[in-house]
Amino acid sequence: MSLFPLFVDIKNKPCLIVGGGKIAARKLKMLCHSGAQVTVIAPQCCTATQELCEQYGVTIERRNFIDEDIVDQCLVIAATDSPETNQRISHIAQAKNIFVNVTSDFTKGDTVLPSVINRDPIQIAVTTGGASPVLARLLKSNLERATPTAYGQLATLVEQYRAQAITMIPDEDTRRRFWEEVLQGSIAEMVFAGRISEAENALKFKLENQQVDSAGVGEVYLVGAGPGDPDLLTFRALRLMQQADAVVYDRLVSDEIMNLVRKDAEMVYAGKERANHAIPQESINHLLVRLAKQGKRVLRLKGGDPFIFGRGGEEIETLMEQGVHFQVVPGITAAAGCASYAGIPLTHRDHAQACIFVTGHLRDGTVNLNWNMLAHSSQTLVFYMGLVGLEIICQKLAEHGMPIDTPAALVSKGTRPDQRVLIGNLSSLPDLVKSHDVHGPTLIIVGSVVTLHSKLHWYLTEREFKAN
Ligand code: SAH
Repeated sequence: MSLFPLFVDIKNKPCLIVGGGKIAARKLKMLCHSGAQVTVIAPQCCTATQELCEQYGVTIERRNFIDEDIVDQCLVIAATDSPETNQRISHIAQAKNIFVNVTSDFTKGDTVLPSVINRDPIQIAVTTGGASPVLARLLKSNLERATPTAYGQLATLVEQYRAQAITMIPDEDTRRRFWEEVLQGSIAEMVFAGRISEAENALKFKLENQQVDSAGVGEVYLVGAGPGDPDLLTFRALRLMQQADAVVYDRLVSDEIMNLVRKDAEMVYAGKERANHAIPQESINHLLVRLAKQGKRVLRLKGGDPFIFGRGGEEIETLMEQGVHFQVVPGITAAAGCASYAGIPLTHRDHAQACIFVTGHLRDGTVNLNWNMLAHSSQTLVFYMGLVGLEIICQKLAEHGMPIDTPAALVSKGTRPDQRVLIGNLSSLPDLVKSHDVHGPTLIIVGSVVTLHSKLHWYLTEREFKAN
């Protein structure tokens, strides 16, 4: 069916819903949100309908529908469970040129109530013209993901300056370019990052100075890419990845994730392999500043979460000192990703009341940590960067009183299709690792929660290492 799309101001206009079930309740809610003046006619109403009627002061007439109920409403919704009644309602309404929606089969009426993505004042409506309501819902969820929740705030801000822009930038083409820059550039990003008043000041400044073709103000996005599975990216991470002009990434970011970055962005590899830093940290910090000052939107993409063993703090300190705008987007840290995909809950009422993230990075051939604090039962230890120091870690924990049969797991390439899990204990794990070909980033989990793996593992079980 070919439909004419239309948004209608229905505030204070008379509407009729016939039927009081769950579907009627959903339609009633939509109408009430739009300020319509609704009457419900139904012999019985479900709790949801009743509650909405009370909440919005809607009149319920508890009786069967009669033909005379359709008078001069602007919309009638037929939501009874009798196809004959719905059909009758539809005929009468259409004869009077009143829009009518039949909820069970919209082809029986003349009006569709679409799936709506609401970013007030923006509304995006989806219909498949009756071809597939499920497809409409899937499409809606794709659009939900692609539409930042702050778009509504952005629209509200822009609306306030629309009239002024028409006066100040009379040329239509120039004005269009002006708004494109506002809506796709750093001002929009400020709104998305919750910096509304800063965004408003920047918009005012841009308008007063009529900067239409400037290179724009550069900015750095410090984004956590998660442990590897691209499905674990946040919506915000993905959006920024697709709009950045330059990308500074490191070894931990998986290829699948790099494939989602804007194709024509300038790519800079910042390395970070053990003891083989492609670019020293100091230079990375300054590289970010330099690119941003060239007016670029710079994506600093990091494995896991930028603030967990990610040196994100140091990078933004430099940006702060240099007056470069930035935002930080958290990612799923390796501990959370590996634990979930290995079926090892990090805390558990019967096993661990705390969880500690520890760096196992070797300095001068040893691992300097507060072993007394770590060597306790009833807590889970997660060692990042612990592969090389594994033997020392296990030995130190045992020396400080942790039983040598304390369960320990190694997860390599966690959350990726080639994830491997190796299960042992403080005494057996180092030898187990030596006898297997372990590759990629690896995480070590120590504590009795590791025993849960045999029961709770669910991901790629057939491809695991054999334990012992
Ligand atoms: N910021 C990152 C950690 C960086 S430190 C985060 O929050 O996850 C690098 C260490 O993280 C690696 O040596 C390894 O111990 C761990 N790591 C990162 N990704 C991993 C993965 N997919 N599987 C296992 N360990 C991982």
